[in-house]
Amino acid sequence: MAVKRVTILGATGSVGTSTLDLIEREPDAFEVIALTANCDVEKLAAAAIRTHARRAAVADQRCLPALEAALAGTGIEATGGADAVCEAAAMDADWTMAAIVGCAGLKPVMAALEQGRTVALANKEALVSAGDVMTAASQASGATLLPVDSEHNAIFQCLEPANRTRVRRIILTASGGPFRDWPIERMATISPAQAVAHPNWSMGAKISVDSATMMNKGLELIEAHHLFGVAPAQLEAIVHRQSVIHSMVEYVDGSTLAQLGPPDMRVPIAHALAWPARMATPMAPLDLAAIGRLDFEAADPERFPALALAKSAMEAGGARPAILNAANEVAVAAFLDNRIGFLQIAAIVQDTLEAYDPGAPDSLDAVLDVDAGARRIAADRVAASGHRIAP
Ligand code: NAD
Ligand code: MG
Repeated sequence: MAVKRVTILGATGSVGTSTLDLIEREPDAFEVIALTANCDVEKLAAAAIRTHARRAAVADQRCLPALEAALAGTGIEATGGADAVCEAAAMDADWTMAAIVGCAGLKPVMAALEQGRTVALANKEALVSAGDVMTAASQASGATLLPVDSEHNAIFQCLEPANRTRVRRIILTASGGPFRDWPIERMATISPAQAVAHPNWSMGAKISVDSATMMNKGLELIEAHHLFGVAPAQLEAIVHRQSVIHSMVEYVDGSTLAQLGPPDMRVPIAHALAWPARMATPMAPLDLAAIGRLDFEAADPERFPALALAKSAMEAGGARPAILNAANEVAVAAFLDNRIGFLQIAAIVQDTLEAYDPGAPDSLDAVLDVDAGARRIAADRVAASGHRIAP
């Protein structure tokens, strides 16, 4: 097999680290072109040196001197700034992992897509914000988007290319997060530490909070809408606490196909990394007898108001998903920083959606304007909430 030249955007995060783990297990199969991070110089430089990367880039320009120092004498190029990350994304990789968190990843993803690259997409916020713009850019350049989010990777595996028009429903499973069984009255007291402790998956802080509010599932419905070109009415989410079935595709004949696997991101990442072939991973085989049972239940709308907000943003389309995402990013950051309570996350998203109604963005710049506008409003709402929680 030819050596695959890979780039990892967000190489120091949870998904980035899992991707590196797979690549480093098969050093002869992969060549690393570029690795990027926000500012975790130590981790980025170590990974670049271990993998003999051609280039390492930090998004935060202030971190460049430290990166240059860490890479001195290695022959690895060090670059810094948001543009440097986009330049790294546009380098000639065969496969690019998009694993930056949030809309901060949008420009780099677009830079790779515009070059017609094969992009493995973990960074759902980029697609949620720029859905139509991103899909159009991929089609224009002939780029390939491979789903890495475990649900979307499952759907991708269950979708029969010849029968795409014969799909009746796509059902995304959700773990329900750490608070699925909490008394609702206690949910106002949820702390950041409790919210990031996910029962099934080990992930970055932002997506862990999104899982706890179930905004993550809402973002994923929008992500599925764009990735698979299915109507909002065909998409459903169901709580499945064991996280063994990662999603399902139901066809018009009544057959439902599911993909199963352990709750470890290396499984969907490996699928995207080897696609259209398969590669071995260190995962233990699924022990279904030990798992014993698979449970399913409807998501409780009272407990998870974020899910309904996301569904209506998906149905309305236009700028709504970008506003939803931007407000959520601001609110989650404020929650993690103890500036607002857990229940205010969805409330701030709702207030921002009600206060702001720009037209549908038709370019990358227009998406970024909507994103910036929504962030300003959400930040005002955070400031006005006057909630100061003892850390
Ligand atoms: P993380 O917080 O662990 O890592 C984020 C990465 O992005 C880091 O490398 C960080 O340096 C980089 N980054 C942060 N801000 C940046 C900026 N402004 N500019 C450039 N780089 C920046 O996040 P994660 O959990 O790995 O998630 C990454 C993405 O993958 C998210 O969109 C998340 O929703 C998605 N995802 C994650 C998982 C998971 O298991 N962690 C599963 C499915 C999807
Ligand atoms: Mg997911």
